[in-house]
Amino acid sequence: MADRFYPNVMPDYVAENPAVEEEKHPIPQGTNESLLKLLSTPYNTLSEKFKRTALDLKETIVVESWGLTRQQVPDFTLYCGTLGTAFLLFKSYQVTNNTNDLAVCSQIVKDCDSASRNSRDVTFLCGRAGVCALGAVVAKYMGDDQLVLYYVTQFKEIKLTKDLPDELLYGRAGFLWACLFMNKHIGKGTVPSSYTAAVVNEIIENGRRLGGRGRSPLMYEWYGEMYWGAAHGLAGIMYVLMDFELKPDELEDVKETLRYMVKNRFPSGNYPASEEDKRRDVLVHWCHGAPGIALTLVKAAEVFGDREFLNAAVDAAEVVWNRGLLKRVGMCHGISGNAYVFLSLYQLTGNEEYLYRAKAFACFLLDRAHKLIAKGEMHGGDSPYSLFEGIGGMAYLFLDLTEPKEARFPAYGCEKVHAT
Ligand SMILES: [Zn+2]
Repeated sequence: MADRFYPNVMPDYVAENPAVEEEKHPIPQGTNESLLKLLSTPYNTLSEKFKRTALDLKETIVVESWGLTRQQVPDFTLYCGTLGTAFLLFKSYQVTNNTNDLAVCSQIVKDCDSASRNSRDVTFLCGRAGVCALGAVVAKYMGDDQLVLYYVTQFKEIKLTKDLPDELLYGRAGFLWACLFMNKHIGKGTVPSSYTAAVVNEIIENGRRLGGRGRSPLMYEWYGEMYWGAAHGLAGIMYVLMDFELKPDELEDVKETLRYMVKNRFPSGNYPASEEDKRRDVLVHWCHGAPGIALTLVKAAEVFGDREFLNAAVDAAEVVWNRGLLKRVGMCHGISGNAYVFLSLYQLTGNEEYLYRAKAFACFLLDRAHKLIAKGEMHGGDSPYSLFEGIGGMAYLFLDLTEPKEARFPAYGCEKVHAT
């Protein structure tokens, strides 16, 4: 299905050219010439441009997703709702140190707190844990200890039911993500390891129950299907497990599960969406397919130091370069999210060509996303200002590109922690 993505005709590499001077020769946006000019712009200048654009976008996103609704929150989630705007503001604060961003962020979280009181969803991206975790972290940066205590207490009241799935968007792995986020920013032990270890244990046990028998040692089900991708399947769960201390046999199961996936990938280097769907080599998204799995493989290369995972990540990145310039803008199944594959490989290998590729995807968006969305040639997302489906994701990527060595797909581990 060639119409899912734009053919990537951008050069494999363009050297920076300090002689590029924008004002002297204005070029209409959305042309090959304008894109090439962006690609050859020295990184410092380009990064300023990303930042300026992102900060403008941020203003619009705050007004459209929160200000105009008079602080009523129809969807509170970080994934497609108002908390995503708060998360973008937190990112903006991390880049600019603008405390006004932090104050507005805190207001938005407060509204999300009210809106999520009765929610039974427990994860970072789609549930109450995201609200409480971000609330606590932002309060910490604001120096409001009372508020930290309030959100941490609220967080600890979240109940994980027995019938919870294990995946990232609605399951245990997604809850653990919130724990990691709090422990990283507020301090080790904010959520004690005795508590998280029990959840990790349950994930491993559930995985072993469905795994084995000639297939992957760990396997999980979500609504009757055994998914492989980051959002609902193995890639997301394995990523989170690698962030926790595992026993040697558990670590071995994680490693063998990833090996199983690499061994059974498509000849193209892409990955099936699920165990049941091993023939349709179509999706190249963070949620399903090579991009989300590549991020996990890069992590595995770090954790295990094995060349095979790095090689598989490199192959996956090739698929993303060729088929990942999607006709969508956001993080989950859009160009913004796919750019993080190159950033993660750049961070692991130091190879500038990967930085170029990330930059190229971002330049493509900078040059023409608005126009393509306005013309209906690119899908702006059902929630057009959101982080995971809309232009919120693009703004977040642009901010991340100001410090590409620190960039992380939203909520993935090792976020940059500022001293307070
Ligand atoms: Zn998606």
